[in-house]
Amino acid sequence: MSDEMPPTCSAKGCRAAAVWVLAWNNPKLHTPERRKTWLACEEHREHLSQFLGVRGFLKDVVALAQWEARSAADG
Ligand SMILES: [Zn+2]
Repeated sequence: MSDEMPPTCSAKGCRAAAVWVLAWNNPKLHTPERRKTWLACEEHREHLSQFLGVRGFLKDVVALAQWEARSAADG
């Protein structure tokens, strides 16, 4: 396994460890199957979800561990 820094929250100024992955897609910029991801700590999950949600971009909110397991399975 690697010694990479643990992923941190994508919220501005937040350096907390990420717990959630927000998968999103901007239909004006991205093809439908494309997924951009933001990471969120427990505190910012709601805030970031709402930011994406009101724009209609939010596709999925998945626990980071689950997301990584899913990615590994896909690979
Ligand atoms: Zn945060």
